[in-house]
Amino acid sequence: MIPYSRQSISREDMDAVISVLESDFLTQGPATTAFEQALCDYSQCPHAIAVNSGTSALHIACIALGLSEGDRLWTSPITFVASANCGRYCGAQVDFVDIDPQTGNMSIDALKTKLKQAQHDNTLPKVVVPVHFAGHPCDMPAIHALSKQYGFHIIEDASHALGAEQDGEKIGHAKYADVTIFSFHPVKMITTAEGGAAMTRQAELAQRMSMLRTHGITKHPDYLEKKDEGGWHYEQHFLGWNYRMSDLHAALGLSQIKQLDSFVQKRRALASRYHTRLKELPVTTPPNNDHASWHLYRIGIQERRSVYDYLQQSGYGVQVHYIPVHLQPYYQKLGFKAGDFPQAETFYAEGLSIPLYQDFQYEEQDAFIQTLSKALQP
Ligand SMILES: *Cc1c(COP(=O)(O)O)cnc(C)c1O
Repeated sequence: MIPYSRQSISREDMDAVISVLESDFLTQGPATTAFEQALCDYSQCPHAIAVNSGTSALHIACIALGLSEGDRLWTSPITFVASANCGRYCGAQVDFVDIDPQTGNMSIDALKTKLKQAQHDNTLPKVVVPVHFAGHPCDMPAIHALSKQYGFHIIEDASHALGAEQDGEKIGHAKYADVTIFSFHPVKMITTAEGGAAMTRQAELAQRMSMLRTHGITKHPDYLEKKDEGGWHYEQHFLGWNYRMSDLHAALGLSQIKQLDSFVQKRRALASRYHTRLKELPVTTPPNNDHASWHLYRIGIQERRSVYDYLQQSGYGVQVHYIPVHLQPYYQKLGFKAGDFPQAETFYAEGLSIPLYQDFQYEEQDAFIQTLSKALQP
């Protein structure tokens, strides 16, 4: 089976994990610190908090920003459920902003309209979570300007966008967000098996998130209430979780991030080949963006169901990203219904993610395109 995406693990990756197994630290230790530093260097961001999943990063970002019951979090309906669920963990109400069908990202016009209405109704969000769908950056300067005008926080869900660039800078610098999060699930740009990170430029937020990932505990002398208790002393200041990344996972991440630029280059080259070669087929293609990270290559097809079935039967693990979050039974029980976000619903109905990953060979890609063109014949 050729999947829509998969990890690429080298001999060096394996050796890096083995050397941690031979060391003194298995859980959060020196490899985690080194991986965090590598994320900071890559993204040109002063603080990185590595955690055990992208979902955990979203959760501690919400808590650190004070999201709680009675507050509102808005995100895109075209995302993985985690971007919305993090609001529910905090007891906040979740709502969605319809998408721009060109990119699949939250529409800036729809966001403006909804904010204006919410200001009138006194229902403004506390947190907005834009998602860089497939690794195409959202218009972050525009969303940042709106956050100043309306007074909301931004958590940038960059799960797809490690390695993407906007205005010559790598996504992850967090200049237009309070927190930017990454996921290192195997299908994402680099992997730690399971893992994630929260990036921020704000020292106080970083400190709070680093405590939230380990029960709300600190041992740092600057933060202790009792400074002279002894070397064993630690204090829990608020309620946190065990969201730590292990050094095994971090060592894999540290080895993977060294290959990130080459992963991105390979994905961009494959995306550009798709862009030219799919022109003759009755499908819509994504914007040909040289600065995207290309986590996914999503095409639009009228008869999606039969094409999906044909490709699956031919050995291609194509996928659909995403079932709009508001149409999940859990969110429908909270009051959402079909028709609420029509652009997202059409984007879903026609969407298909086709194979794109760093080790996908050009000959394999050409063979896939031939099968796709057969699948599209009436
Ligand atoms: C993968 C993903 C997440 C969650 O990441 P995990 O590491 O699987 O918890 C969140 N948001 C988006 C958009 C994702 O694609």
